[in-house]
Parts: sequence; C-alpha cells; structure tokens
Amino acid sequence: MDEAARHALIDKAERTHRLAEAELAALLADDGATDELAAAADRVRRAFVGDEVHLRGLIEFSSYCRQNCLYCGLRRDNKNAQRYRLSPEEIVALAEKAKAAGYPTVVMQSGEDAWFTAERLAAIVRDVKRLGLTVTLSVGERMTDEYRVLREAGADRFLLRIETTDRALYERLDPGMSHEDRIRCLADLKRLGYEVGTGCLVGLPGQTAEMLARDVLFFRSIDADMVGIGPLVPNGETPLGDERPGDMRLVRRMVAAIRLLLPEANIPATTAMETLSPGARELMLRSGANVMMPNVTEGEARQKYALYPGKACVADTPEHCRACMEGRIRAMGRTVGKGPGGRMRKNRK
Ligand code: SAM
Ligand code: SF4
Repeated sequence: MDEAARHALIDKAERTHRLAEAELAALLADDGATDELAAAADRVRRAFVGDEVHLRGLIEFSSYCRQNCLYCGLRRDNKNAQRYRLSPEEIVALAEKAKAAGYPTVVMQSGEDAWFTAERLAAIVRDVKRLGLTVTLSVGERMTDEYRVLREAGADRFLLRIETTDRALYERLDPGMSHEDRIRCLADLKRLGYEVGTGCLVGLPGQTAEMLARDVLFFRSIDADMVGIGPLVPNGETPLGDERPGDMRLVRRMVAAIRLLLPEANIPATTAMETLSPGARELMLRSGANVMMPNVTEGEARQKYALYPGKACVADTPEHCRACMEGRIRAMGRTVGKGPGGRMRKNRK
C-alpha cells in the first residue's frame, strides 16, 4: 500500500473506529503499517482507557483436558503432558495469596477438565468471591446451565477465545469441536451478564489477513469486553510442532487494530507474546494493550501447565512476578490499575 493510502486508512480508524473488512485486511497485510498503526492505537488507548495497566493474577488449576486442539500442549492425545489438578483448597489458597500480593482480580484457567463439575467450580468461586476478588473463569466450553450456575455463584468474567472465526480452519484445528458451539457459548456468556473476553491465535497454518480482519470485526460485533491475541507458539508435542511461530509484527498490528476498532476493550499483553520475543509485553502495551496477566500458580503446577515450550517466567515466584510487572509498568511511565479494571464504558471521547 502506498504511504498516502495507508495514512488515510489509519486516520479513518483513529477518528471513526470503523473500517471495512477489505481496508482492515489491507492494513493487517502491510508490514510497513506496523509503527503508524501502533502509534495511533497508543493514542486511542490513552484517550479511552487511560494510562493504567490492570494486573490479573492467573491461576492455572488443572492441566487435564478432554479436547484435542492441534496447537495445544494440554490436548488429550499428548501422552507426554504432565497432568495435575489442584484441590479446591489449593485454588482458594492461591487466590488468597494473589489478594495479599495486591491483585484485585484472579483468572482461574484450566483445560476442559470434567472433574470440575459446575457445582464444584461454583463452590470454589463462592469462596474466592468471599475474599472480595473479581473472578474470571477460563475453563472452556460448558452447557448454558453450567455457565448460569457459575454466574450465580459470583463469577464476573469469562475468557473464551474464538481462536479463529474461519469455520473450516477452526474445525480442522480443533477436531471434534464445532464453530456453532463456540458462538453459542459466547452468546450465552454475554446474555448471562459476564464480562466476556475472547480473542484469536495468529500464525495458524492457512490463516490469511482477510480471516484476521473478520476476527477483528467479529470481536466488534459481539461487543467483546476483552480481546486477547496469542501468537502461535509451536509445541513439539503437538501436530503443529513444525509450524512457524506467529509473526510478532502481525500480532502487533492485530493488537493495534483491535484497539482502534474496539477503543474501550481491555487488551492484554500476553505471555505467548513475551515467550516469542522478550520485551514484547512492553511493546504491546505501547501498541494498544492495557492488561497483563502474571501467573500466580506456584510450584510444580506452574511448570506442568505447558501449552507451549519456553513459556516466559515459568521459574519465577508469584511475588517476584508481581514486583517485576510493577517495575516494568512504572518504567514505562504508566501506573498499575487500582480497582478491578473492568470494561470501561463511560470514557467516550
Ligand atoms: N481450555 C480453555 C480454552 O481452550 O478456552 C482455557 C485454557 S487454553 C490453554 C487458553 C488458550 O491457550 C487458548 O484459548 C489458546 O488460544 C491458547 N493456546 C493453546 N496452545 C497455544 C499455543 N501453542 N500457542 C499459543 N497459544 C496457545
Ligand atoms: Fe484443551 Fe484449551 Fe488446550 Fe484446547 S486450548 S486442548 S480446550 S486446554
């Protein structure tokens, strides 16, 4: 794309927060647009969600999974995965520690582990809510009634990435899962009043800029409260082990495009980004992102939750993570968010 056309499109996105699919795809395909897109997204981030960076304490409580996603180290056919399951008491104890370390929000994440029935999970959610924490769940697909039970137990937010909006690609990479089910889950979560986080992977085999543009427009169409982007980190224990890692410049354009089109959304700088490129979290926080999710899982479990190899910070303690994040945020001239850091709605320009 020539410079004038690129500039006109980015300017339009910054002013109107709208782009057509073809316009978005052209920008996402244009490596030369990366810095200008990121700078515009950084301005929009500051205007709409401010300088605070919200920290969520991530508790990875079970590595058992009944699904078989081709990219993920927790997939059920990975016989070399080390499986563990924290007890409800251990999960609540980690949440207590997260609170003591100053996290207002915990994200409870796991594989799709049937041991954690909705009732068992709901009891844990109630205990964690008694601590005064905001609770986000990321436990995959469930029946509508289960989402309801969990919401009634006090769960505030739910993360479920669409992974890709391209039906054929999704169903190829997530065998046995259906695109309709995924959409049904996201619609249920919205209807039940959760703050809903979704997102996609970047670097999937066969994925195009047009597909990614449709992903961004999908996030906008469901009014996603949070959008997380994961560059594919190939895992040698999975069928996608020989793929190329996601292109970090494309990831940066995605983060920026999401900020421009969904100016109020929470957008995390994710661990997968840092794993592929040290320092990427800061770069993403300057390209539209405003959230980080440090791991507060302790001990062996922290190493065994191996979605992909070389996961950043896996040997650190939760206390070290918290202090390290705060230092990094301050060094950027930003501040650590004080409250639960929910989706902003009033800050329209
Ligand atoms: N099982 C739940 C689910 O799938 O929604 C939650 C846990 S799952 C491990 C969380 C996210 O990890 C997935 O949405 C997927 O995008 C990401 N993930 C899995 N394998 C990955 C890989 N190799 N590289 C980057 N991200 C990956
Ligand atoms: Fe299981 Fe989630 Fe990994 Fe898929 S991405 S295998 S559902 S943990």
